[in-house]
Amino acid sequence: MVDLENNMQKYAGLIIRTGVNLQKDQTLVISSPVECAPFTRLCAKAAYQAGAREVVTLWNDEQLSLLKYRHCGLDVLASYPDWCVQARMQYLNEGAAYLSIAAEDPELFAQIEPEKMQLAAKASHTALREFYDATMSNRNSWCVVSAPTAAWARKVFPGCADDGEAVNKLWDAIFRTTRVYEPDPVAAWAAQQRDLRRRIQWLNEKRFHALRYRNSLGTDFTAGLARGHIWCGGAEETQEGVPFIANMPTEEVFTTPDKDRLEGTLCSALPLNYNGVLIEDFSLTFERGRVVSFSARKGEDTLRCLLDSDEGARSLGEVALVPANSPIPQLGILFYNTLYDENASCHFALG
Ligand code: ZN
Repeated sequence: MVDLENNMQKYAGLIIRTGVNLQKDQTLVISSPVECAPFTRLCAKAAYQAGAREVVTLWNDEQLSLLKYRHCGLDVLASYPDWCVQARMQYLNEGAAYLSIAAEDPELFAQIEPEKMQLAAKASHTALREFYDATMSNRNSWCVVSAPTAAWARKVFPGCADDGEAVNKLWDAIFRTTRVYEPDPVAAWAAQQRDLRRRIQWLNEKRFHALRYRNSLGTDFTAGLARGHIWCGGAEETQEGVPFIANMPTEEVFTTPDKDRLEGTLCSALPLNYNGVLIEDFSLTFERGRVVSFSARKGEDTLRCLLDSDEGARSLGEVALVPANSPIPQLGILFYNTLYDENASCHFALG
């Protein structure tokens, strides 16, 4: 127990220092599931130790969300209250840093009609557009991390005797992959960042015309790379020049594909968690840059919803490469959480 507490503190410190890179007198806003409160408090403590002006917490609870999806009318699901937008925008405008703790039961929403989930997702995305645009353009520093919840841990480690054992195992996997067990995690992250920058520089010098993919599941795919594409990855900088890491872990380098030169079939090696539903063993076939057919062994309706969600959803916005020797593929654990699983394998982003 002492060790767990110790490592949780190291992890919280790493997130505040290397992740959001909180500056003295800066406010930190934390979004967190209520179940992660003990860890959220450690993050708040680390933030105050780093000189935070104030730590503000926005709690969420997926069991309450489930009740809402079950019982509320479509008009409620299709609306997003102004005060929730205000709560985010006010701190954003004051220059706050944002930490999001992402932890979900991967299958909690499987019984809810995908149209309902889509409606609510669209409403919040539309209402929070200014907030997302500002974070995506790095106006303020932000960071997404994970911490275990019992339901998530049981899904990753179904063989465990009880919740406690599963949660401890998931903590262990998180500490391994975020380099918390290193004697100096901050220095270990700095070394990994140098390594990523070296790869990015090499890729940018090569100016590849296209990437060719094959796997044993049936993938045979060519992604043309956009003219003038730039490879990115690892640490980013705020508009004021403060470096931060938006995703912990992050092992990928990524760039923009040519939207007209995507040809062939992609077969997923890992499931995709979308709106609380797992899409498993799916494939997408592209012609001239657009998905023309698709299938999924599980979650096909959700995949259809995703592909029909807007104009661009049948195209690709990102191609990403992940080294086979980084900690997540080495561990060989399926996390059912995109933050982790996208760092286990080369991947693509729809839309
Ligand atoms: Zn990615």
